[in-house]
Amino acid sequence: MWKFASCDGCQLSLLDCEDELLDVAGEIEIAHFLEASSAVVRGPYDVSLVEGSVTTPHDAQRILEVRRSSRVLITIGACATAGGIQALRNLIDVEDFTRAVYATPAYVSTLATSTPISDHVHVDFELHGCPINKAQLLELLSAFLNDRRPAIASASVCMECKRRGNVCVLVAHGTPCLGPVTHAGCGAICPAYDRGCYGCYGPMETPNTASLTGWLAGHGMAERDLVRVYRTFNANAPAFREQSAALEEDAG
Ligand code: SF4
Ligand code: SF4
Repeated sequence: MWKFASCDGCQLSLLDCEDELLDVAGEIEIAHFLEASSAVVRGPYDVSLVEGSVTTPHDAQRILEVRRSSRVLITIGACATAGGIQALRNLIDVEDFTRAVYATPAYVSTLATSTPISDHVHVDFELHGCPINKAQLLELLSAFLNDRRPAIASASVCMECKRRGNVCVLVAHGTPCLGPVTHAGCGAICPAYDRGCYGCYGPMETPNTASLTGWLAGHGMAERDLVRVYRTFNANAPAFREQSAALEEDAG
């Protein structure tokens, strides 16, 4: 388990597998997981789970070393798969942020952008979510151990909503919901509690963001809010990034 720029929530998903953790530890030798143990086994490794995005020159080098020492490399979470909330820096001058946050910004060594791991090295599988779903992580590990494809759907949150029997908040109440363009995996938690989805799992495989944007605009969402809707945890995921940029361009 490797950490880059992130909040550690996705790594915690593995420790959060309370009922299954001993079984996992029985099947897998956990060689490098600093959040769980300071004991480190030297590589090479069969499988690396990578959390976080690349935001520093040091990390841009470190991910190359992780790739070299890993037979299979899997990225977990919105930071590793899309750049995370910290990719909002990509839209402005990063020095505006460092000046606002740090008393002595000259001591901060950072890149101008936050980028997903796949921008730097080959990635074998991406697991989406902010944070990831622990059941999907277990499925991924099980698939790896049994040399099969992981049963992880690439459909939208709407599909999970239907399976769960949720009332559609978008249709029934006009509540803005990104479910139609968002990757499945959470089990449609937010609509189950009468809230719209805000896209924390990132874009699904074939998202029609233009159509959803038109629907939201037709129901009164202001252009400024539409831009912001796509600029959260997955602002740098291509489908969300391009849609928000198109909206900004239209607004002039
Ligand atoms: S509530 Fe949202 S996710 Fe659920 S079916 Fe409606 S649009 Fe799709
Ligand atoms: S419904 Fe949307 S915002 Fe809520 S957990 Fe699922 S993907 Fe994230």
